[in-house]
Amino acid sequence: MRLATAVERPLRVAFVSEHASPVALLGSQDAGGQNVYVDEVSRHLARLGYAVDVFTRRDDPSAPEVIEWAPGVRVVNLSAGPPELMLKDQLWPLMPAFRGALHDFMLRDGDRYDVLHGNFWMSGWVVAQLARQLAIPAVHIFHAMGKTKQRHQGQADTSPDGRIAVELEVIRAVDRVIAQCPSERNELVDDYGADPGKVALIPSAVNIQRFRPLPRDEARRRIGLESDELVIAYVGRMMPRKDVRNLVRAAALLARQTELRFTVLLVGGETAEPDPIATPEIGVLQALAAELGIAERVRFVGKRQPDVLHEYYSAGDVIVTTPWYEPFGLTPLEGMACGRPVIGSAVGGITYTLADGVTGLLVPPREPHALAAALQKLLMDDTLRETMGRAARERVERKFTWATVAERTAALYQTLLDSPPQARVADNVAAVVDTR
Ligand code: UDP
Repeated sequence: MRLATAVERPLRVAFVSEHASPVALLGSQDAGGQNVYVDEVSRHLARLGYAVDVFTRRDDPSAPEVIEWAPGVRVVNLSAGPPELMLKDQLWPLMPAFRGALHDFMLRDGDRYDVLHGNFWMSGWVVAQLARQLAIPAVHIFHAMGKTKQRHQGQADTSPDGRIAVELEVIRAVDRVIAQCPSERNELVDDYGADPGKVALIPSAVNIQRFRPLPRDEARRRIGLESDELVIAYVGRMMPRKDVRNLVRAAALLARQTELRFTVLLVGGETAEPDPIATPEIGVLQALAAELGIAERVRFVGKRQPDVLHEYYSAGDVIVTTPWYEPFGLTPLEGMACGRPVIGSAVGGITYTLADGVTGLLVPPREPHALAAALQKLLMDDTLRETMGRAARERVERKFTWATVAERTAALYQTLLDSPPQARVADNVAAVVDTR
């Protein structure tokens, strides 16, 4: 594999991720799996010898322009719009400025990037434009597709008009699109008409050093949970689409139908202290738990950073995540890496990462009765939980590490770098139109 150019410098990759920076704190509204992906893949590519710059939008006036983030990885804050936190769905009008700032940085920096790697549809547009202008190979990963979001969220989808048209353009313009799981590849090919030869399947992963099993009692001590009850844990953003309400409803059924003593532990939200004002979904869940008579069984933790999350996963006997839909879903993998069985909805990436009946159980989304039955099955069977938890950790170690993701991503870059530019570019150039 070629890791340096003729002048013996490392190959340079520009990761473009307008709203999701590795520097952001995770767990709040617009900071989740994409931030983790950008952080982990850039670090692991750097370990393979690449020099990676992650370009993101400046949302803090006091942050330096360039942050030395990890060996071989810099984070570059580009000015585009007000230097403050904004919802990602408000960023689209700022993308021409973001593209301009990125181009200016490249000119000032002087040295050429060998590969552009876009993240999310808006950065895809930026990457498609610059790839054409500068004749640099481009790889893109969407992290979520507009058509799927539209299908599931309908009126509640706040994506800007034109998202889907831009996604179609990006798919045509870039050299390769990374799908994180087979269902995303199907979306790209079936819903968007992507050329299957252009779609590379590279599943995302989990940091298996960070997410590791702890004995249950020790984990509970560490997080201050003094309970010998069974614990059902959810970790993730507190958004309607994650359908934590489904878990609260299932817990109410379980409380009514069984003698099981259990606590539901909910980690996530905008703030470290659970706050229904800052995180309206927490307010909705509190009201629902009270209405269903299980308020005292549901504990809200607030958001926590990744370095302590293994304590929360390991404090659980079962991990649950039942979103309406899920492009990939890192949290099921994190629960598995912590050696816990996971109950997940049978949607998107979860059907690929979770081995049903082996590392946990798949249930249909939006069906509290089905979730309650799955919970009952696992909570009543210590041996089954133990066996599944062990199988879960093994599966993650075997199939879902970031080192492997980086190797596959590097191999993909290499394919593009090794192919003659004319052959590569000819297909794409005609397809790019400036949609602004
Ligand atoms: N997360 C976190 N702290 C929290 C809640 C979530 O660090 O309080 C992380 C979680 O560990 C996971 C990511 O946010 O790595 C969520 O990614 P996932 O793919 O599960 O869902 P997304 O948020 O991207 O929809």
